Amino acid sequence: MPASNLAAHEPDLDGIRVLVVGAGKSGRAAATLAAGRGARVRVADLRGPSEAGAEVLALAGSGIALSLGGHPPELAADADLVILSPGVPGDVAVVAAARERGVPVWGEVELAARFCRGSIVGITGSNGKSTTTSMIGAVLRGAGIPGGTGGNLDVPLADLLSLDRPGAWHAVELSSFQLETIDRFRAAIAVVVNLSPDHLDRYPSYRDYARAKARLLETQDTADAAILNADDPESRFFDPFVRGRELRFSTRDEVPRGAFVRDGRIVLRTEHGEDDVAAVDEIPVPGEHNVANALAAALACRLVGCSPGAIARGLRGYRALPHRLAHLATVAGVKFYDDSKATNLDSAARAVRSFPPGTIHLVLGGKDKGGDWAAFRDVVRGRVARVLLVGKAAPAIRAGLGDTVPLEDCGTVERAVAAGFAGAAPGDVVLLSPGCASFDQYRNFEERGRDFARAVAALAEREGRDA
Ligand code: ADP
Repeated sequence: MPASNLAAHEPDLDGIRVLVVGAGKSGRAAATLAAGRGARVRVADLRGPSEAGAEVLALAGSGIALSLGGHPPELAADADLVILSPGVPGDVAVVAAARERGVPVWGEVELAARFCRGSIVGITGSNGKSTTTSMIGAVLRGAGIPGGTGGNLDVPLADLLSLDRPGAWHAVELSSFQLETIDRFRAAIAVVVNLSPDHLDRYPSYRDYARAKARLLETQDTADAAILNADDPESRFFDPFVRGRELRFSTRDEVPRGAFVRDGRIVLRTEHGEDDVAAVDEIPVPGEHNVANALAAALACRLVGCSPGAIARGLRGYRALPHRLAHLATVAGVKFYDDSKATNLDSAARAVRSFPPGTIHLVLGGKDKGGDWAAFRDVVRGRVARVLLVGKAAPAIRAGLGDTVPLEDCGTVERAVAAGFAGAAPGDVVLLSPGCASFDQYRNFEERGRDFARAVAALAEREGRDA
């Protein structure tokens, strides 16, 4: 085995044997990064050669070895470093075998951060990560600050390194799974948007999930900044893990240091003094949760060094990401909204609360993540006219909601669109905000959202779209 300096910030990977477990987007990016730095890389995936797809097979062209159709523990026998993909649980046998041998197990984010010369704004939370990350990215790029936007959102950090240089700032979304496998990764500015139960199918408890998120804070230095949600009681969980200087954001109250709303305007209070940034009404995405996201984003950008004017311009020009409460069409007075990204109960509850009570025909279901559907009764009661059930979670949702609301089994998103329209009156809303993951029927939430949009477009074609 070559002399390894994996403990160093920028380790020499030449000749190091790297095993990447999981050939998703981030696994492939990690493999390419490591191979480019001279490592001998093997990528293993449960999918066989026929299911893996062209992007995985193409890795072989860069001299990367492939083990498709499984990742048996033997693969760990000669690895010097294991890169674990966020989609693969940390207790799989091959990773356990590596840990037993004392082999470091990193995520793609840890690997990429070792080679990053710029600084990172790291964003986590249960909901609003992608929105806040892309708002920060929009402001930073608009202000002419070099760097990239990605992480769990779209482009893996390893692929953002092409935009890296000293002085760059990268806006990086981080999921709890990614944060489990960081070690020396450090966010100069950390944003935790909020905390609510999610991924209870992967974590033994809510606490374990929250603890993984806290890694973002406890890996910071004292000179770094930690931005937390003052309105969210659950976020108090993070207090003991803060190492940097703490700032907070609130849509309700003025905070001593951070971001808040005063007389309908976004105000920042930092070491730069007090800045009036923009009117809340100028944020071009709806809902109080997006005000919270904008406050967190504005604050992070001010700490990077953007002027209040540049922040205001960036926020005004921000365009919503697809599948987050997006209005698709209105057909015979019935409005169709795609909120496919609402993959947990808190985000589905936000969506329900964004429409007038009694008008909502709510499409729920998919792959259950262990959500508390009995507690969701309080969300639907008096607000949701009808629940249209899709996917595998249907029986669990039916059992949890009981007779609080009329339920209709639709099976697929396409049938839910037809049933939603058939039972809705003009002025009603058919809302896909499923509160579940999509993996029982789709590859991801985007595919589910597109399927919903296709069914709505076909309906609009038949019935005629309202102007
Ligand atoms: P994430 O990346 O954390 O999943 P997104 O920005 O993609 O967050 O939004 C996911 C879902 O949560 C969407 O349905 C969106 O409407 C909702 N949402 C966005 N921001 C917040 C927030 N601050 N609090 C609660 N829900 C939010």
